[in-house]
Amino acid sequence: MAAAPRATESIVASEPSSQVNAGPPYAAMLDLIADPILLVQGGDRADLSGRRFVFANAAARTLLRIQRQEAPLTTAIRAPEVLDAVDEALYAATESEAVYVVRGVQDRFWRARAVPLASTPTRVASTLLILRDETEVRRGERARADFLANASHELRTPLASLSGFIETLRGHAKEDPEARERFLGIMHTQADRMRRLIDDLMSLSRIEQGEHIAPSGAVDMTVAVIDVLDALAPLAKERCVTFQTTLPPAGEARVTADRDQILQVIQNLVENAIKYTPTGSTVTIEVLGDLTSAQATTPTGELAAHFSILTPDHAAGRRYVAVRVRDHGPGIARNHLPRLTERFYRVEGQKVRERPGTGLGLAIVKHIVNRHRGGMIVESTEGAGARFTAYVPVVEPIAIADETAAPGPQTTP
Ligand code: ADP
Repeated sequence: MAAAPRATESIVASEPSSQVNAGPPYAAMLDLIADPILLVQGGDRADLSGRRFVFANAAARTLLRIQRQEAPLTTAIRAPEVLDAVDEALYAATESEAVYVVRGVQDRFWRARAVPLASTPTRVASTLLILRDETEVRRGERARADFLANASHELRTPLASLSGFIETLRGHAKEDPEARERFLGIMHTQADRMRRLIDDLMSLSRIEQGEHIAPSGAVDMTVAVIDVLDALAPLAKERCVTFQTTLPPAGEARVTADRDQILQVIQNLVENAIKYTPTGSTVTIEVLGDLTSAQATTPTGELAAHFSILTPDHAAGRRYVAVRVRDHGPGIARNHLPRLTERFYRVEGQKVRERPGTGLGLAIVKHIVNRHRGGMIVESTEGAGARFTAYVPVVEPIAIADETAAPGPQTTP
């Protein structure tokens, strides 16, 4: 069986360019394609203005701000790499690629592919220039590389400390029981830090893997908060922090959730509050049931800055249960709010008493809440504390068959 011609060849090679340009049928089809596409014809190789685009689909016209149907290629694209790729295709009949960068507030990266089209002695050489937006792919690659670099760095710090103390214990501290005890204490802390870091990294990776699968269990938010506060009571006591709670009666704030993950959300938020609030002050935890999305996202107005970290896709009429955690710590300056859930992001200059965090707690919270189709907001005033709100959809009432409804059409197997 003969190989089918490539789509681009079959479209253009059999049609004079004027017909492609003229509109239907192919122009209309090409206009539907999201990738910018230009049909370029070449004249004398030495004459740069001889390369002309004779057709640009709608996406190309928008990206390159093309207003004319036909013009020298350099009026649309000046990037030398792209022009070289076009030349390769036009004059060497070789498919060629280049990266085309559109500079702006946020640079966008396009892969430009120049595909030669069959030329005959009677027709000028022509090529299709196809652009594909690779910005998101590049961003993803960059984020992965940054994440690996950060994770390695975070692990290397306690590891270097452990190695250093092992050397010291083998050397001059060998015969000094007092120093040995002290160093072993520090080593224990560093090993604990590495363990927490690895636990958080694995937790984050597990959550991400299952993020596309919505949870199906039912969890009572009031009970979940009480369980977490019980578990954190020793830490709060150690730091002389008191909890103040406002909780609806058990059974009134039920959400569709994975229980362990919801416990982790509450725990990370309350642990941060305990960590950052001054000794002797209060952390307030509220659960608010049956909110509309507008109610869940409305800031309390008590704190100056407000940022929505995560907004769910709104299903009409969906109701939410929110958990709010308020502390009286240093707060967070407005410019840091959008970056809080980035992995390993820490606000500079914030000194945590013993047991500094891993920098992954809020990233974990965000991914869990996203899996639950919920949202998250943060409010803060520098010097007056912060309030984090996470909200997730309430349990859907079980659909009860309507006995009075007329029977539906019968289906035969
Ligand atoms: P960490 O483990 O460092 O606490 P998180 O992801 O939980 O990491 O938080 C990221 C950063 O956000 C923290 O390092 C801190 O700078 C800031 N932050 C989080 N919660 C609070 C809070 N309640 N008050 C002030 N700053 C906070």
